[in-house]
Amino acid sequence: VVMGVPRETLPGERRVALTPADIKRLGPAFDIIVEAGAGSLAGFPDNDYVQAGARIADVSVLQREASVIVSVRAPEWIAHIKEGGVLISLGARDLSLAKALAETSVVHLGLERLPRITRAQSMDVLSSQASIAGYAAVLEGARHLPVILPMLTTAAGVIKPANVMALGAGVAGLQALATARRMGALTHGFDVRESAREQVESVGASFVAPNVSLASAETSGGYAREQSSDEQAQLRRALAEHLRTMDLIVTTAQIPGRPAPLLIDDETFAALAPGTVIVDMAAESGGNTSRTRPDVEVSFGGVTVLGPTQLPSHAAGDASRMYGGNIRHLLEHLGTKDGALKLDPSDAITSALLGLPKPSEVTTA
Ligand code: NAD
Repeated sequence: VVMGVPRETLPGERRVALTPADIKRLGPAFDIIVEAGAGSLAGFPDNDYVQAGARIADVSVLQREASVIVSVRAPEWIAHIKEGGVLISLGARDLSLAKALAETSVVHLGLERLPRITRAQSMDVLSSQASIAGYAAVLEGARHLPVILPMLTTAAGVIKPANVMALGAGVAGLQALATARRMGALTHGFDVRESAREQVESVGASFVAPNVSLASAETSGGYAREQSSDEQAQLRRALAEHLRTMDLIVTTAQIPGRPAPLLIDDETFAALAPGTVIVDMAAESGGNTSRTRPDVEVSFGGVTVLGPTQLPSHAAGDASRMYGGNIRHLLEHLGTKDGALKLDPSDAITSALLGLPKPSEVTTA
């Protein structure tokens, strides 16, 4: 299989879809062409790719020869992917990409569609990248805080530990809590899914239970159910009193394929302490606050709101190692036949990635 790894072009994107170590492990079933400079921002120079057995080439060579393209974001030149080629990348929830793909014969394996089943855990790019992003969100927030996270007890002065809250305790929220705790903060977590309580507590944070009833907030896929607008409003009011004592708030609440729930509105902003920093990890899907703007630092009523959309790129080396490992496991799972990638629609993972209806064997982990 001739496979191409392009250089990412989205501003702020520093990751690369496969690292030299992945290429070495994929072995001779794959003839891999890496676009010159593809790994340089993540710390993987061209030379390391050559040593691992890849060819370094210009993008036109990828377009001409590769029947499989693996990338983080979909390249801008999908119209130049080979006839009947396969694209493996993020972007499954991007409607303009779907439209552009429909004009081509390219088959897209959209990684957001990967089922959250035990068998697919090693391929789960959403989880691996959310872990890195949760860590990076705390560092980003800490840089903007007027206080430090740990307690200091010195002869020259004493400082109280900061309070950090994660709203949404999925993969990113839990990693944010774990990171803030390692840095010495007092940590608190909230999620609409009751099953998140145990996980919040397992990373040393206290679970915040606002005084509001949230019936069956979890779907069979393990994701949160979207709250009605009435429930959301009640939740906002109940959460506000828990947020007024926080220094750093990391919001991560998302519903796949839907706008992010509004957890902090202008009324809540008025209740927050001046100097509070919010890092909104849901900025790309609409934001969890009324003031979030993607990649813009907003100041409102003394509160700073950050909406970074490229957090995994803050640690592009490790993010790429995780992403590349996930892709390698996926490629190994798919397998090859007669020099092509095997795409078996009766396989639960493949059919989900293709956006086909679920075969009945899909079970949640
Ligand atoms: P996500 O990024 O879709 O959402 C982040 C979190 O926001 C979720 O925990 C969700 O419950 C929460 N949320 C949604 N609406 C909210 C609201 N109004 N208020 C507060 N929180 C709200 O989620 P994710 O991090 O991708 O993980 C979702 C679930 O999937 C978790 O239970 C996770 O443990 C599970 N998971 C399973 C696997 C697997 O392979 N079995 C892999 C990864 C994650």
